[in-house]
Amino acid sequence: MATLTLTQLKKHYPNGFQALHGIDLAFNDGELVVIVGPSGCGKSTLLRTLAGLEDISSGDLEINGRRVNDLEPAERDIAMVFQNYALYPHMSVFNNMAYGLKNRGTPKDEIQRRVAETAELLDLSALLDRRPKQLSGGQRQRVAMGRAIVREPQVFLFDEPLSNLDAKLRVQMRLEIRRLQKRLKVTSVYVTHDQTEAMTLADRLVVMNGGRVEQCGTPMELYDRPATTFVAGFIGSPAMNFLTAQPKGGDLILPSGGRLSHEKARSLASDAPLTLGIRPEHLVPLEAGQRMPAGTAELEARVELVEPLGADTLAYCRLEGQEAPLVVRLNGEHAVADDDRLRLAITADRAHLFDGDDQRLS
Ligand code: ATP
Repeated sequence: MATLTLTQLKKHYPNGFQALHGIDLAFNDGELVVIVGPSGCGKSTLLRTLAGLEDISSGDLEINGRRVNDLEPAERDIAMVFQNYALYPHMSVFNNMAYGLKNRGTPKDEIQRRVAETAELLDLSALLDRRPKQLSGGQRQRVAMGRAIVREPQVFLFDEPLSNLDAKLRVQMRLEIRRLQKRLKVTSVYVTHDQTEAMTLADRLVVMNGGRVEQCGTPMELYDRPATTFVAGFIGSPAMNFLTAQPKGGDLILPSGGRLSHEKARSLASDAPLTLGIRPEHLVPLEAGQRMPAGTAELEARVELVEPLGADTLAYCRLEGQEAPLVVRLNGEHAVADDDRLRLAITADRAHLFDGDDQRLS
């Protein structure tokens, strides 16, 4: 049972580089919080400061209301699962899992019991005598998790634990971690750069950018109401499309000349151009001759490349007056070919509007 509170947490590395710029976050008891962001945004630094592997330059880290900034890693009652598993190659699975408990002087029969129970939970019971090199990648990752679980810590920290596994195994292990975490109800912080992994695992997501928190919320809150263009472009796959939208007479004029009536456009202080974000799955193709539904604007785009995915098809299109391709997610049964012209409808309630500073117009 643990809550974690970070208040104005900052980290300067000895070379003077500031990796964390005042992080304020609170993690609730039993929740799985995923920290996501591009390479170099400070995810690992944040996780390592929680673990006590990096010292905190300023600010407070509290576990259950107690300041732990100056506690050694071993005193924090936190277990970390690393990307490279960090197993001892010369030890059996049993001894790898038991190692931390032995070091703490846990009685032998207690170690036996906890390792056996955890091995059962992770489907490792038949592998306890093996060495790590005699295991598959997925099995090694489960041993690494087992080693964390037997310690019965207050908090789990996961540092990109699935990045060494192939795509299929990642999906399977992702489900296992989710199931396990829900069952054990241990407060967990999970770092990844993979937004799909982040969306599917998280109770709450923290999107980081340049050592700062861009936004924190449930996956669907971030998908439905991204606070900045950065979050909008990072969450969702394929990424959101961005178009220039010119306010005019209370409407928005789109690159291909379409006119969108949008309530936000009616109360703007200036007519400076805005950024309109629209997800590939929210562009609706119209049949030839079909009239535009009320309250929508039309985009006319030329298909440059078609990517059939089975259930869906992605069409990469060219939109007049815009450099970046427009990505459209179509139903897999929708016939579409290179050079086709698509008429696409945008509705105001699917359009995300951002100002010149990339902030959402709420
Ligand atoms: P990745 O996904 O690539 O692991 P990350 O988001 O985990 O990236 P960090 O490893 O936390 O990023 O690094 C954040 C920033 O801090 C980077 O610019 C990195 O170069 C810098 N950094 C990390 N460790 C040190 C260090 N020991 N000394 C100086 N700068 C560092």
